[in-house]
Amino acid sequence: MRHEYGNCSFCGGPVEERLVSVDYRTKTGLVIIENVPAGVCRQCGEQYYTAEVAKAMEKLASEALAKKTVTVPVYEFPASANL
Ligand SMILES: [Zn+2]
Repeated sequence: MRHEYGNCSFCGGPVEERLVSVDYRTKTGLVIIENVPAGVCRQCGEQYYTAEVAKAMEKLASEALAKKTVTVPVYEFPASANL
């Protein structure tokens, strides 16, 4: 999927689409989302996301953060135990 980003609103440079890795911060934590299609300014590196991409990242991040996992040690009860 290709999007039009127009020129960079900071420096006016050309913005091209690339797949980037985003450190997405929410109130509850940080999620790293890879291969996000973003417009990247070739001059200053500023990144732009379309509304659809921003929405999808928000959804992904909330899903990822909802899956909070707790590590619990698992022990096998010894079958040989003489009880
Ligand atoms: Zn720029």
